[in-house]
Amino acid sequence: MPTNPSHAIDLVTPVADGWRVPGIANLHSHAFQRAMAGMAERQSNPEDSFWTWRETMYRFAARFGPDSLHAVASQLYVEMLEAGYTSVCEFHYLHHAPDGTPYDDTAAMSRALVRAARETGIRMTLLPVLYISGGFDGRALNARQRRFGFDVDGYLRLFESLRGEVDDQVRVGCALHSLRAVPADAMQAVVAALPQVARIHIHIAEQIGEVQDCLAIRNARPVEWLFAHADVDPRWTLVHATHLTPEETRRIARSGATVALCPTTEANLGDGLFPLRAYLDAGGAWGIGSDSHISVSPVEELRWLEYGQRLASHHRNIAVREASPSVGETLLHDVAASRANASGFDDLDDHLVLDGGAPLFAGATRPDVLDRWIFSGNRNVVREVVVAGKRVVGGGRHVAREAIAGAYRAAMQRLLA
Ligand SMILES: [Zn+2]
Repeated sequence: MPTNPSHAIDLVTPVADGWRVPGIANLHSHAFQRAMAGMAERQSNPEDSFWTWRETMYRFAARFGPDSLHAVASQLYVEMLEAGYTSVCEFHYLHHAPDGTPYDDTAAMSRALVRAARETGIRMTLLPVLYISGGFDGRALNARQRRFGFDVDGYLRLFESLRGEVDDQVRVGCALHSLRAVPADAMQAVVAALPQVARIHIHIAEQIGEVQDCLAIRNARPVEWLFAHADVDPRWTLVHATHLTPEETRRIARSGATVALCPTTEANLGDGLFPLRAYLDAGGAWGIGSDSHISVSPVEELRWLEYGQRLASHHRNIAVREASPSVGETLLHDVAASRANASGFDDLDDHLVLDGGAPLFAGATRPDVLDRWIFSGNRNVVREVVVAGKRVVGGGRHVAREAIAGAYRAAMQRLLA
């Protein structure tokens, strides 16, 4: 296990005209969804929910090929780096051509993402997704889901072919889409075949409907079922885990698994609120992700995480510990502490420099820098970003910002045509 800062103040180093802080790990991303951010905010039905949003998302997903995915992911990773994310866990399920036919290189879409990461300089944990069934009852994938599908053997061949991409900047792990998409025997076969270093991510308990279906068909709540059928340990990241009983909350915390919280997406989709205070009391590990990319900002994720808890509890300053009464420090400490287990990257000196000349830092001292950064204002104060010793953002701008934005606009024109 890597050594993590024991005191939050260790996260902040004063440097010339600024404050150096560790890079932020983004634990959950579906890159293609960046292209539809802000385009599903009109009511189509009084019952609009996650499930109607998903129909819009499927229609949009059907337009992507490797080139458009590369252009959109590149723009997204530029935005992530400028916002302070230095690594991304890419939960990738657009594997095949839109009609479900595999590309000549079955990993063509995966490689488009890896190429975008290498070109922009963000570290990537690529998590090719196993997606087999369209529901807890084991029904077949529908026409729109067919391009996501692999059987166990096909999936393991994809996984093997991607391991050749691993280097200082790229890791490859495994994503189980969700319990409804992965039958028990397939989950167990894939997990057993993975190398010990591979991280395992899964969407779980995001929606109340999903909890109800799981209860009805598998006779257990999703997290309860998962713990009964898999050895959940620190290699695992449970994405969302929104709807938990107190016992499930404690079990995840005890297992050493990480929970990937995506507060802006969870708010945008009307998912619900994670029981953060109880989870912190149980010593649970967690980090953040931008998921649907309705927002690409660690500041906004962390602020919303804390604000959701305040709104629900009618109290202030929820994410704190006895040794760390500052909310900003506690949040950033936990995000830094979960990075290695969730992403597979450890011992990094990737860092950001926050602009000490920004008015929001006027008179700042080391103990209050992080609270000011997370809770004050809306201007991005990330001035410089260094990943693997390379400066990829300077003066608040990614080194290839213009060229990548140009390619993105052209790709959007084709996608929306
Ligand atoms: Zn997701």
